[in-house]
Amino acid sequence: MKIEFFRHNIGKEDIDRTVEVLHSIFLTTGSVVGELESGLAAYLDVPYAIGVTSCTAALHLCLLAWGIGPGDEVITTPLSFCATANSILHAGARPVFVDVEETTGNIDAALIEPAVTERTKAIMPVHLYGQMCDMKEIRRIADKYNLVVIEDAAHCIEGVRDGIKVGRLGDAACFSFYATKNITSGEGGAITVHDTGKDELLRMLRLHGIDKSAADRYTKKYRHWDMPVLGWKYNMDNIQAALLVGQLKRIDELWERRDALYRRYEDALSPVKGITLTGTVPGSRHACHLFTIRVAGQVAGKERDSVLLELQESGVGVAVNYRPIHLLEYYRKYFGYKEGDFPIAEKIGGETISLPLYPLLRDEEAEYVIRAVMEAVTS
Ligand SMILES: *Cc1c(COP(=O)(O)O)cnc(C)c1O
Repeated sequence: MKIEFFRHNIGKEDIDRTVEVLHSIFLTTGSVVGELESGLAAYLDVPYAIGVTSCTAALHLCLLAWGIGPGDEVITTPLSFCATANSILHAGARPVFVDVEETTGNIDAALIEPAVTERTKAIMPVHLYGQMCDMKEIRRIADKYNLVVIEDAAHCIEGVRDGIKVGRLGDAACFSFYATKNITSGEGGAITVHDTGKDELLRMLRLHGIDKSAADRYTKKYRHWDMPVLGWKYNMDNIQAALLVGQLKRIDELWERRDALYRRYEDALSPVKGITLTGTVPGSRHACHLFTIRVAGQVAGKERDSVLLELQESGVGVAVNYRPIHLLEYYRKYFGYKEGDFPIAEKIGGETISLPLYPLLRDEEAEYVIRAVMEAVTS
């Protein structure tokens, strides 16, 4: 049996819509991107969504839109994909890591306030694996110190906590449509905001900072454009959007299947000795992006990496989300980080294994994964 770590959910409807775009005259940012943006804004109950080329681009643009740059500090988590902290470096600012909660792996809100300095301008929480951070507390701290909150919601379009959706309490939220995310166009991203001025600024910033898009030039009478600010080349195109429009309509259906698989994994694996599961926050809706187990120390004489290898040998696709950012070579070298700086993130990073979790995963495949895990940690 070979069980892929991930398989996307692009179907005939999505392909047909994309082919339609390819037969049309307009390939770049246009009406299909607009359709995706209004669909995403409606799904999240926010006024504005802006399509970009990646979540990394989304995070970078948000920092620029709020004027964050050299000399500024942004508080974030070390337990994420490097894109989170890299976006802060792209903006010329400095990422300031604080450690995570042992149960969920999310940024520990209690550690944020002590890390605030005169240079702190923003907090960038990551809703890890699809579970929202404590946004109420993060918003409280942000208001107290006049900080911007930019949510990295790459794992978490569908999440809800304390009755609040992603992007509601943050000033901005950033989403990814990368190849293995909950909905995907291979590469792609989006930003949601509440503020009309920021929406307009971000639309300029995603396209060089020019004040008219190609669609404006195409659909309206020609008018000269100007470039009031310096932006980047991060605009989503109609081809990417066409792949996403239908997936967004099915997003809750897709979530339901992942949720069922998540629960099946939880039921089967929580009693297994030697592994721990990521805790879930009661009363919240987990977006179920990733299902992770933790192998603490040695089980059956094996450490995490051996279990990881054994699962692969059984044909089970696996991943590690994540070895902490501060211990990556570049961050060690330029910021002097070392082992022991963020012990909980390091512990999780050394123990975690992600298992296959996607709507096309069949029940018998999930059962095979469960058996493979049990075998790996008992024999
Ligand atoms: C995937 C991911 C990103 C980056 O998304 P891209 O669209 O590939 O730029 C950022 N943060 C987290 C937590 C991610 O998982």
